[in-house]
This record gives sequence, C-alpha cells and structure tokens, in this order.
Amino acid sequence: MMMMRSTRGAAAVTPSMAILRGLAPDGGLYVPESFPAFTQDEIASLAGMDYEARACFVLSRFLPDFSREELQQTVHGAYGAGFDCPEIAKLVDCGENTHALELWHGPTLAFKDMALQLLPRLLVKSAEKNGEHREIFILVATSGDTGKAALEGFLDVPGTRCCVFYPRDGVSRAQKLQMVTTGGSNTHVIAVRGNFDDAQSGVKRIFGDANFAREMDRQGRVLSSANSINFGRLAPQIVYYFSAYADLLGRGLIAPGEAVNFCVPTGNFGDILAADYAKKAGLPVGKLICASNSNNVLTDFIRTGVYDISDRAFLKTTSPSMDILISSNLERLLYDLEGCDARKTAALMTALKDDGRYAVEPAVLEALQQRYAADFADEDEVFAEIARMWKEQGYLMDTHTAVASAVLRKYREETGDARRTVVVSTASPYKFGPAVLAAVAGREAAAGRDDFACCAALQQLSGLSEPDAIRLLPQLPVRHSAECGKAEMAAAVLEAVRK
Ligand SMILES: *Cc1c(COP(=O)(O)O)cnc(C)c1O
Repeated sequence: MMMMRSTRGAAAVTPSMAILRGLAPDGGLYVPESFPAFTQDEIASLAGMDYEARACFVLSRFLPDFSREELQQTVHGAYGAGFDCPEIAKLVDCGENTHALELWHGPTLAFKDMALQLLPRLLVKSAEKNGEHREIFILVATSGDTGKAALEGFLDVPGTRCCVFYPRDGVSRAQKLQMVTTGGSNTHVIAVRGNFDDAQSGVKRIFGDANFAREMDRQGRVLSSANSINFGRLAPQIVYYFSAYADLLGRGLIAPGEAVNFCVPTGNFGDILAADYAKKAGLPVGKLICASNSNNVLTDFIRTGVYDISDRAFLKTTSPSMDILISSNLERLLYDLEGCDARKTAALMTALKDDGRYAVEPAVLEALQQRYAADFADEDEVFAEIARMWKEQGYLMDTHTAVASAVLRKYREETGDARRTVVVSTASPYKFGPAVLAAVAGREAAAGRDDFACCAALQQLSGLSEPDAIRLLPQLPVRHSAECGKAEMAAAVLEAVRK
C-alpha cells in the first residue's frame, strides 16, 4: 500500500494516520511515498462521471486505506449538499483558450470548502481506523478563508472540536463576521494581535509543545490540524484538477493526452501543489503558473532559486488570503525537487528559520523552472484586471482570481505560450465586495461604504445575485470575541475550552 513519509525523515505511516496527525512528529509534512499512475483511458473515463464519482475515483488511489464505501460516504457528505451548483467545481469559458475553474460554490464562498467539507469526515474515519477515541481538537491559523471553511466543516461533527486563530486586523470585515458569527457547540474563534505568519507560527509552536499535548490528553483530547499542511486537505484538491481536465475533454476542447496549463493564485502553496501532484499521477499538465500578489516571495524564489524573507515587509493587500511570506507547502515541493532527501529538506527549513533565507542548487532550480513559471500582480494590476475582464468578457472575478488572471496575461506576453490554460478561481467576487466594486465602478463608488453596501451595489451593477451567506451576515449575532497576543495563544486555547 502507498504509505506517507515525512519530509524530514520520520517513519512512514498510512494515509489515515497522516490525516489524523496532520503534522509528522519531526515537524515535517507527510508526502506520498510513491504516486498513483492514472492512464489516459482512466482520465478520459472521468468525463462521463459527476463530481462525486470523479472524487471517489481519484481519492481511492491517493487514500488506499479507505474503502470504496467509506470514500463514497464521505464524498457524498461533503459535496452532496451545501454547494450551489451541480458541477461543484465549475469550469467557465472566459476568453481565448482560457477557462476559470470556479471553486467557490460551497458554503463559505471560497475554495477552501472543496477540502474542508471533506476533511472532517476523513478525520473521523481516520480516528476510527486507528483506534483513536479522544476528541479530535483542530487548531487552525487562518489568513481569512480557511478559518470559516474549517468552522463550517467541523460544525457539530461529533468527536471533533475546532479552534481558529485569525490576525485581528488582517482579514476583511465580511471574513471576520463569517467567523465570529459561527454557531455550534464545538467551535472557538480567537483574534491574534499580529499578522498571519504570527498566527501560523503560534499554531506550529503549540503543535510542538509537549506540555500542551499532555494537558490536552488529560482532557481526553488530541491535537490535529486542518491547515493545508494536512494531507487530508491536499488530497481533495487534487480531484478538481482532474475534474477540470475531464470537463475540457468532455467538451471536445482538448484531445486525450493534450497538456493544459494551470494558473493558480498562491499563498501557502497548497492549491498549486495539488496540481503538481495531479501531474505526478499522470494528468497531462503543461506549465504550472504560480501567481502571487505584492507579497511576491514565491515569484522571486521560482525565478532565482533564493527564498528570502529576511529583508521583506509583510504587505497587506486586497487579496488577504495570499498575504503570506512563509508558504508551508513549499516544503513538500522542495522535498520532491531534492530527490526525496529528508536531510537536505530539513536543512533548508532550518536555514529559513534561523536566517530567514535559503538557496537551492542550480540543478534544483532548473527542475523547478521546468515545472513552474511565476509572476506577481500588484494592487493596480489587480484592479485593472478585474475591470478589464468585466468589460471585455462580462466575467466578474474576485481579487485573488484577478491576481492569477493578470499574471497569466503577463506570462503569455512574455513567453508566447498560448496553450489552453485554466485559471483557478478561488473566491466569489462577493466575498471581497469593496475591492471588486472599486475596480469595476471606480474607487469613489466604494468609498465610505461597508462590505455589505458594496455587495448590494455590486449586485445592482452586475446582475449576479448576491449569495445569502454574505447578504444575511450583518443580521447574525456575534458569538466569539476572544483576543490574545501572539505569545499567548496556547493559554488562550486552554481558556477557551475551560468555558
Ligand atoms: C487560501 C486562498 C488562496 C491561496 O491558496 P494556497 O493553497 O494557500 O496557495 C487563494 N485564494 C483564496 C481566495 C484563498 O482563500
């Protein structure tokens, strides 16, 4: 059976154990020991299936210790209701050889739902399989969208509890309201006085804290992670790349075996890494185009081989879910590029922690650039792209998707690569109403109006109906108001569960 290995060398475990643990005991990330190999016939057969069947088909090969019945059950639980379109991951034409893969038709209007509707169900099954009877305590650091998606995914799931940390001043008003209005008896939401990297580092510290683990155990609880470091987050994301390809085949837009590019708005490198894993499993993928906002540390890394945050300011942008300097999932790619050498991978991660930078060897850089292209879009380019796509294609995109769309435009101009490309669309435009309205109607239109007034104006202007998940938010009661400093996160968790 395909086992999961740690990027830093710890003993291999089953996929269900990797999901249960989240992070490996040595601090590394779990990666497949070997990759499944899908034939072109198998990929073609996906065209005739619905999303649930595609998901079962792909996941059965990445999660071999789950039975067909278990996968059918969990997949149906995740995607059977709660999405507002039957396609689940909807592929929309938006111009010459370009398609948007809309991954935001789930309950929280961002692509995190694709994985986080499924992960809690996989986790509960993983606990069963491994004789784990303690309550699974999920700790999440969010840059905005993961938090609500995790809360929604774990909401009242028996045997689980979910605690989310968000950067107090780093998320949009709608994102914050989505989180702090969450109901359920097993959810906690805490604001951190710091940025996303502070919140993420704090969560990592708690995971490495033996005293904290003992205290949790004493309470009958065990820590796990719903961040994209958990392989149970990554696996469901692999599915939609296969699904998009199958849709293109089904529409006769590509020939079997023909390669397609994917352009992905990137923060923690989880979404684009799933595309890489799809490619390693046989999906015909051309270039993976890594799109960043002004926090462009990944652009520099892919272009130069040097990852350097030592002298870099953390910038707040209108695409907050990509405001990240330390992209956790990059460790999985590095491990792969370093020929699955755990010692080398661990050394790079130590250098990042100690010096804020590392550099890869020229041969590694070359391998990286064969698979990936990279660029970034600044705030002006993002606004211009939203306006242009609306005007020229009648397609309304959110700020994150616009980062990718703008980067694709530049990539094509620079390289002349005209290959059919799927732009991964990661959030509903209504989730970032003020910025999207400002882009299509001018900054005056959004000035002085809150998220909700902007969304109402956006609906009038575009004719696209505003989702209830946004429209009804201001009427919901605020249920979570805890706040803590970045050094006090562990204490804040214990305080929250005491109540
Ligand atoms: C999380 C997120 C991203 C970035 O995805 P990563 O997997 O972190 O690279 C992009 N757009 C939106 C809307 C997101 O929520």
